[in-house]
Amino acid sequence: MKFKEFKYERPDYDQVKGQLDTLQNELKECSDVNSFMEIFDKINQIRSHVQTMASLSSTRYSINTADEFYEKENDYWDEISPMYASTNSDLYKIILNHKLRNELEGRIPSAFFKLAECAIKSFDEKIISDMQEENKLISRQAKLYAGAKIDFEGKIYNLSSIGVKTTDKDRKTRESAIQAKMKWFEENEEEIDEIFDQMVKVRTTMAHKLGYSSFTELGYLRMSRLDYNADMVANYRKQVLNFIVPAAKELYDEQRERLGYKELRYFDEKIEFLSGNPKPKGTTEELIQAANKMYHELSKETGEFFDVMVEQELFDLESKPNKQGGGYCTDFPDYKVPFIFSNFNGTSGDVDVLTHEAGHAFQSYMSQKTITIPECMFPTMESAEIHSMSMEFFAHPWMPYFFKEETDKYYYLHVADAMKFVPYGVLVDHFQHEIYANPNCTKDERKKMWRDLEKKYLPHKDYAGCDMLEKGCWWYQQGHIFQSPFYYI
Ligand SMILES: [Zn+2]
Repeated sequence: MKFKEFKYERPDYDQVKGQLDTLQNELKECSDVNSFMEIFDKINQIRSHVQTMASLSSTRYSINTADEFYEKENDYWDEISPMYASTNSDLYKIILNHKLRNELEGRIPSAFFKLAECAIKSFDEKIISDMQEENKLISRQAKLYAGAKIDFEGKIYNLSSIGVKTTDKDRKTRESAIQAKMKWFEENEEEIDEIFDQMVKVRTTMAHKLGYSSFTELGYLRMSRLDYNADMVANYRKQVLNFIVPAAKELYDEQRERLGYKELRYFDEKIEFLSGNPKPKGTTEELIQAANKMYHELSKETGEFFDVMVEQELFDLESKPNKQGGGYCTDFPDYKVPFIFSNFNGTSGDVDVLTHEAGHAFQSYMSQKTITIPECMFPTMESAEIHSMSMEFFAHPWMPYFFKEETDKYYYLHVADAMKFVPYGVLVDHFQHEIYANPNCTKDERKKMWRDLEKKYLPHKDYAGCDMLEKGCWWYQQGHIFQSPFYYI
């Protein structure tokens, strides 16, 4: 069955809750591990169905935020998802405190128990209205960004499609394109600041209600971090400052020399070669065909996986008006398949989607074949990127299929980018630690905070001539800061 034929129907919350309550009561009373697992399996089927519907709704809405039906459904899920979090929390408490706990540990992966503990610590009935408020703010930000119209050289771009112009080989074009993009942010500065300020406040309120001193602790729990804490991340930042920032500086110096510029300005950062960055050769259809060939040659499993993706049309790759920004991979457990969302814009990033997001999708596809407990399907945020980043590098030998005569340029760009990303990723993370440690900062103080940290981790930045960037607004472009705090690292 194709993605477009997957049937969406809003689950009736009261009915689902009734079913789950009955089963969870049975689970509580259960004194035999086999019957426990049978009941648990029924509960998981119901939860997977709810997840499938939530995921279908949000995917279709993100593809077209102007679709009135899915906009209403998106609003509905913003309201109802904390209620489902509540039913999950009840389930976790039953399992963690069950008299069969010892036997259950032999049947349910240990990660489940750890994740359940994390989830319990990050939820309470008393924060439901705050969670709803946060969801609404996230949707508001996503809709604002998805509707961006950037007038450039007589054509209308959105925040994704302008990407190809901001990396144009002509220096003047790049400069004007970035300025056009930043002009959109300037026009929406007040609203973006307002949304973010409310996000910080509501997150802090939730943390305080749960007994934490700041949102940071709650943020870590919500990311389901089982293996490391804020102290370790602070130490990691130090190592990045000591070792990677100087290495990245060498790369930026090399880049400036290669380009033959006296100074590497903010609009030069993303261009590696005077002849232009490597671009994928061919239409979206042709790139998918190249990926298909690659995945068949890579392994039997990846070949089978990619056939399913193509046959069931589990992609929405091209950038278009009213589509949300960024890229992601999600899954539909009822159908046991993943889905890839992205915004192709004609840069090498398009190929990275076919390796990176497909890496996530391959993990999801393989996991869904055998794993039935929803919590255990996803490798947690700590290890999720291992699958995607590895796939980017596994795919290297097949890059000539995508870049033809520009393959060597791609190799350089891809590896240099991986190194240059680390200080940036750490900066985004550090910024959020500061934001949530000082939730009452003014909007201007937040920008200064960003700019100061940016000078530390990305000392090469030269924003002369762009006031928005100079005053510390670069982070407006980083969706995770709004939608998924502490996502990086
Ligand atoms: Zn990823």
